[in-house]
Amino acid sequence: MLQFEDGNEQRPNAPALGLQSVIDTVPNTQAAALAALAPKSPAAAEMRRVNVADKRIINGQTDVNQLVPFKYKWAWEKYLSACANHWMPQEIQMARDIALWKDPNGLTEDERRIITRNLGFFVTADSLAANNIVLGTYRHITAPECRQYLLRQAFEEAIHTHAYQYIVESLGLDEGEVFNAYHEIPSIRAKDEFLIPFIDTLTNPHFKTGTPDADQQLLKGLIVFSCVMEGLFFYVGFTQILAMGRQNKMTGAAEQYQYILRDESMHCNFGIDLVNQIKMENPHLWTAEFRDEMRGIFTQAVELEYRYAEDTMPRGVLGLNAPMFKEYLRYIANRRCQQIGLDILYEGANNPFPWMSEMIDLKKERNFFETRVIEYQTGGALSWD
Ligand code: FE
Repeated sequence: MLQFEDGNEQRPNAPALGLQSVIDTVPNTQAAALAALAPKSPAAAEMRRVNVADKRIINGQTDVNQLVPFKYKWAWEKYLSACANHWMPQEIQMARDIALWKDPNGLTEDERRIITRNLGFFVTADSLAANNIVLGTYRHITAPECRQYLLRQAFEEAIHTHAYQYIVESLGLDEGEVFNAYHEIPSIRAKDEFLIPFIDTLTNPHFKTGTPDADQQLLKGLIVFSCVMEGLFFYVGFTQILAMGRQNKMTGAAEQYQYILRDESMHCNFGIDLVNQIKMENPHLWTAEFRDEMRGIFTQAVELEYRYAEDTMPRGVLGLNAPMFKEYLRYIANRRCQQIGLDILYEGANNPFPWMSEMIDLKKERNFFETRVIEYQTGGALSWD
């Protein structure tokens, strides 16, 4: 029997239900906490079991450590799909990209500008997204199915940062310049400055949900991250690099971006489902004033992303030009608004890049740019024949 510092051989309130071996291995404060959690009778234990009907996305009172019984199956299914889409940056060959980048006649100055600007934005964007999840969003979500997805999403953000770093290293770019672009390039800095107040709110250790005002702030942060950051701010860059790949240039980088786009479109869809579920459970948050504020945020985001399009494409390049993106961003903003139940902002905006939908719906058996087995097999599923 373990001797405690106070000389007792056993904690006076230690429960008799097999917790003693656990208590013996944990510090005294945790032992007391575990003892306090122990049910006093079988009936009390039954009462403490998680009831599906009691689960809530925010401000839930059920045990966040109990994944099942499932209530939010859509979150669990997205977690499974995300795992099936697993990939790692170093699986993709970069030799052709390196040869093209080092060839003085391989790419035009405007094409090189697209590569360096894109990496300048993305190399820190996914870190912002990861920190926002881990230090902010995760704490405020009380549905374990959604937390499970967020854990997977956080790892994917790390893979994306890894992918950009891998491209920067492969091409031998100036790391200081690329990693500081978010301080030094105004069109990139403006997008990040727009996001930072929302990140600061959710990551503030004193921020707690539970009042209508705080819950609206959380909802706003979730909309900004899924619909604006992952659902709009990534799209000029994705389109540019994928257009380059379609012209058989920088195909390794384009392939990495294709996998990232697939992941990001799921992050965006998960965020939309999360927002819509919170709205259903808390209809009092979705006021006319709140909806107006959200539409204002989308309008501002379209302007910022359009400025980024102009900065990255001072002239036409790769069959693209900035004005085409004005239409595209309006089309995307309308779609995001509709997905969360807001009125559209831009009447009649069309999609000038229908081929992008094909890129997002990347099928497992097929990859546009190169060949790689893109369905991830778990250890148990591998065939050794
Ligand atoms: Fe993401």
